[in-house]
Amino acid sequence: MHHATSESREIDWVNTIFIAFAHVVALGAVIYSLIVGVKWENIALAVFYFLAAGLSITGGYHRLFSHKTYRAAWPLRLFYLLFGAAGVQNSVINWSSDHRRHHADTDHDEDPYNSRKGFWWSHVGWVLFKDRLRNLDNAGDLFKDPLVAFQHKYYVPLAVLMVAVVPATIGLAWGDPLGAFLWAGMIRLVFQYHSTFSINSLAHMFGRKPYNKAISARDNGIVALITLGEGYHNFHHQFPGDYRNGVRAWHFDPTKWIVKTFSWVGITRDLRKVSQQTIDRAKLQTNNAIAQANSAIADAKTSIADAKTSITTPPQNPSNVSS
Ligand SMILES: [Zn+2]
Ligand SMILES: [Zn+2]
Repeated sequence: MHHATSESREIDWVNTIFIAFAHVVALGAVIYSLIVGVKWENIALAVFYFLAAGLSITGGYHRLFSHKTYRAAWPLRLFYLLFGAAGVQNSVINWSSDHRRHHADTDHDEDPYNSRKGFWWSHVGWVLFKDRLRNLDNAGDLFKDPLVAFQHKYYVPLAVLMVAVVPATIGLAWGDPLGAFLWAGMIRLVFQYHSTFSINSLAHMFGRKPYNKAISARDNGIVALITLGEGYHNFHHQFPGDYRNGVRAWHFDPTKWIVKTFSWVGITRDLRKVSQQTIDRAKLQTNNAIAQANSAIADAKTSIADAKTSITTPPQNPSNVSS
């Protein structure tokens, strides 16, 4: 396998300039709002947008389209595709292709957000460089959905529509189209970015590994709070075909709750779950591996102590000491 070396990295200027632009505009908008004030309607619209676009990324892009963990009726798919475009994280086909490579080769060369390349690389660095390994061969199935194919083809105008045109038009209702665009479009977008990015960075660095010790993905309840439930990432990497990420009833996973609620009225169906037995077995194996490692450490400590004793104990027979 060829290594994409750092020397040959090529900056993706479109992504880099857009991400920098979004941060500068959002920061400027916050300062502007602190000076002249902000209408509560703008903040309410921003919160709605954060939740709608967030759910479209977690429930749509991720659990529905990338992993096919359930089926969704077309109005919900359309909602996901529109508000997913408001997340400005590429078309669902590109996103899923990247994400499937992340799962297929986690922490290795084919993983676009390989966490072994460091926190900043997995957080946002990978977005700023061209990815020569990207190809859509692993996302061919998605083209079969005409709505998904449409979003892929018209992703840029859809993103402009959802980030700028729609919020500004709604903002006309309270006479502040610019404020509505800045809050629901740009400020919200920057929070959305860091919410999604933290799954690839924080949830691959901090947290527990109850289901698989061998991968970098971790269960992190704090990340779950800011990502609508995606922080239970060790579970997710071990069982990517499960529509749940937070598997326990008390785990904070609003995406799971919404997908489940929709299933009661037929908007979603065929929710896939790993059996509790399989989950328990993975947990038990992990615990056994920890117990084995601990006993190996204890054994090693004992032999080190023995070796130290034999070094520091004076010779028993003084006649062996030469004068
Ligand atoms: Zn991951
Ligand atoms: Zn995934």
